[in-house]
Amino acid sequence: MLLLRGGEVLDQTGRRAADVLIDGGRVVAVGPALAAPAGTSVLDAADAIVCPAFVDLHTHLRQPGQEEAETVETGSRAAALGGYSAVVAMPNTTPATDCVEVVRQVRRWGEQAGLVDVRPAAAITAGRAGAELADLAALYADGVRVFTDDGNEVADAALMRAALEAVRELPGAVLAQHAECAALVASGHLNEGPVSRALGLGGRPAVAEEITVARDLALVRLVGGGVRYHVLHASVSATVELIRRAKADGLAVTMEVTPQHLTLTDACCSGADPTFKVNPPLRTDADLAVLRHALRAGDIDAVATDHAPHAPDTKARPFAAAPPGMLGLETALAVLLGPAEIPLERAVAALSWGPAAIAGLAEHGRPVAPGEPANLCVFDPQRRWRVDPAALASKSRNTPFTHLDLLGRVRHTLLRGEPTVIDEVATR
Ligand SMILES: [Zn+2]
Repeated sequence: MLLLRGGEVLDQTGRRAADVLIDGGRVVAVGPALAAPAGTSVLDAADAIVCPAFVDLHTHLRQPGQEEAETVETGSRAAALGGYSAVVAMPNTTPATDCVEVVRQVRRWGEQAGLVDVRPAAAITAGRAGAELADLAALYADGVRVFTDDGNEVADAALMRAALEAVRELPGAVLAQHAECAALVASGHLNEGPVSRALGLGGRPAVAEEITVARDLALVRLVGGGVRYHVLHASVSATVELIRRAKADGLAVTMEVTPQHLTLTDACCSGADPTFKVNPPLRTDADLAVLRHALRAGDIDAVATDHAPHAPDTKARPFAAAPPGMLGLETALAVLLGPAEIPLERAVAALSWGPAAIAGLAEHGRPVAPGEPANLCVFDPQRRWRVDPAALASKSRNTPFTHLDLLGRVRHTLLRGEPTVIDEVATR
């Protein structure tokens, strides 16, 4: 047995001071000053929050194909240290995760690492090439629930319609779009605006996101049948408004935002430091303010990291040649609570049961209650810290958050009752 002693439980039912007793991978008791039977291991939760462990909807584990940047094992360790018990692995691997064989291989690597549940998302189109649909029904039968060509949008509207029609027939499945109009961003490297013009670099205009989201919502209405659609890494204010209206109309649509789009703007790119290159790009102060407000108001369903490791030699290229992407798993909570100033309850909701519901992960993001799976995170909400890139568990070092004062640190993480992190250190 395992006892989390002295913490404050926070879940979808509220907040209360309580110990949590765990046995056989499940929570068996929750209450003040629980007695620990002989032989029980005790983990200190004093001055800490005990909550459902986090679920990342948007993790790039880079395996197969880019093992110099990350592996399923190193990415899983980074996730556990960030308080996660499950991650959805993005399919832009080499080869692309577009068939059952690759899905099974990634899942197997996740099981071998044993640090988080790795749930591969599968590509919408074969090879993520945007030409013909992958075998979505076969992937679904193998357990896939999230379909995305992340990295690219599905540009062809007829193909997107066909993908929505296919997903409509798969209960619990969701089509997740990287919403950037391909034609409008083809030669862009950062947000189109004064900073891109000053640098003399091609821009990625805000309307590129707005146009794809608006088009997709029109297709969602056309296809009907309650088809589920999710906007990955929303970055502009127009997306917030479009999704808010679509929800009010009863469409089954959701959106996520990343910690970077809640805290950084294109002003960070003015020195041409490729650490701040990401797609969709960092936007403006006005977008950032709208995204924060929408997250606080509950209009944004989830915070997802878009954890995108890149080996140092590639990320150190000049801005226009460097690959887009940033690390995020080990800092997400602390960026939300610190610089993004998101209230504790909203941060935990958007990191835990919000994304678990979108990804259809029935064993994650559950209330802290007897009988529920013990996928739990214990974090100190008052702990202030700075990220040291050299100390990260990720194989890569491309964190953009080194200049920020972070708040809140994961102390312990449990996966089905087994500690994967104890006292801020991974157990394996
Ligand atoms: Zn993306």
